[in-house]
Amino acid sequence: MKVLVLGAGVIGTTSAWFLRERGHEVTVIERQGAAAMETSFANGGQISVSHIEPWANPATPMKILKWLGQPDAPLLFRPRLDARQIRWGFQFLIECLPWRTRRNMLQILAISKYSGETLRALRAQTHLSYDDLQRGVLQIYTDRKGFDDAAPAAELVRAYGIARELKTADECIRIEPALSARRKWIVGGTYTASDESGDARKFTQELAALAAARGVAFRYGMTAESLAVVGDTVAGLRAVNEHNRKEVVSADAYVVCLASHSPKLLVPIGVKALVYPAKGYSATLPIVDAALAPTVSMTDDAKNLVFTRLGDRLRVAGTAELSGYSLELNQVRCEALTRRAQEWFGNAVDATHAEYWTGLRPATPSNVPLIGRTRLHNLFLNTGHGTLGWTMAAGSGKALADIVSGRKPEIDFAFTGL
Ligand SMILES: Cc1cc2nc3c(=O)[nH]c(=O)nc-3n(C[C@H](O)[C@H](O)[C@H](O)COP(=O)(O)OP(=O)(O)OC[C@H]3O[C@@H](n4cnc5c(N)ncnc54)[C@H](O)[C@@H]3O)c2cc1C
Repeated sequence: MKVLVLGAGVIGTTSAWFLRERGHEVTVIERQGAAAMETSFANGGQISVSHIEPWANPATPMKILKWLGQPDAPLLFRPRLDARQIRWGFQFLIECLPWRTRRNMLQILAISKYSGETLRALRAQTHLSYDDLQRGVLQIYTDRKGFDDAAPAAELVRAYGIARELKTADECIRIEPALSARRKWIVGGTYTASDESGDARKFTQELAALAAARGVAFRYGMTAESLAVVGDTVAGLRAVNEHNRKEVVSADAYVVCLASHSPKLLVPIGVKALVYPAKGYSATLPIVDAALAPTVSMTDDAKNLVFTRLGDRLRVAGTAELSGYSLELNQVRCEALTRRAQEWFGNAVDATHAEYWTGLRPATPSNVPLIGRTRLHNLFLNTGHGTLGWTMAAGSGKALADIVSGRKPEIDFAFTGL
């Protein structure tokens, strides 16, 4: 079957890889000059199967109110006259209900766990190397309430076979000695040894190169504009090609992996996909004293920041702004990242050479991605992976390839349209 994949982020590229593995003739359409140049470019780097708590949970509405107007707040909602933002915000509040949160956590856990297993198998098969480390993820709590609240989430994932263990401050330091200078800050932590970390951009670009060598056609510099629909079938993609000419491309099946930009193609043809951009920041700092820098990926719970060692660099990432599609860098947010990195790890990093970046997480209100068939029989989605797209990528790509191929995916997940 001829399959057109739209978007070469980590999600589109893993989808293309597994579709090719299933024997399809695959073409990927990507507006940038290479894979992973947008949201998958400089994310937090964590493969955190254990981290299933969505932003939408019972505690969040009060926190958002408290953070309103704080320029360096971890989660900032900037209301706009935008019907999609209002609809998204309303649905987000519904997802904060306790029973919805629990259901969403179980969905996130199912796809993340499957994805972790799929990534390990893919790595063994391809020998990809992407500054990956299999040293676990340590979540650090600097306030008692945060630590107390962590216990139920840890217990829930343990019940499903993910060993997220509660740790004392001293145990945290034994796991990551680079934290010892801040021993007094730490109330406790949770540690999941089976979690991983690595550079999503390197991974995606290496996988794209390998997929190309195996026959996947990547058309970079080509922008998807709209889908032509006849009855319940997508008949073609209208695009502006790499020579800046209009072109219609046809296939037997179409897979939309356009992250926050997915609704631009889907809404005009009546496919509802409530994906809204949640802007995040990262700073990548050169490591100047390797002995003082962490090797275990860490989450600083109070600040909602992650710290990941990527070879000779330290990536700090986090913050979320629901404010539309702007990628402008806000200086206050950038400085908050480097300041926190220095507070934890002092002279391990060179803050004067920090590289700042912003990306738009493709957020659904529930943080559960949209994977599967739509009401149009040859149109498929793999989008809306929000805060966990790197964690969920390999499993989402494989499950999507199974669905397009008419097979039952190996996991129990609420796939769209099935
Ligand atoms: C600050 C930050 C930290 C994060 N940290 C983590 C983390 O630690 N762990 C984790 O699991 N996840 C993390 N994430 C989330 C993760 O990065 C995303 O969920 C993931 O990258 C989304 O991948 P994607 O392929 O859907 O999107 P993208 O990588 O954005 O891919 C979509 C592609 O579509 C292309 N495109 C868009 N429109 C068009 C068009 N019209 N025509 C052609 N091409 C088009 C874009 O160029 C892009 O390449 C983080 C995100 C941010 C912002």
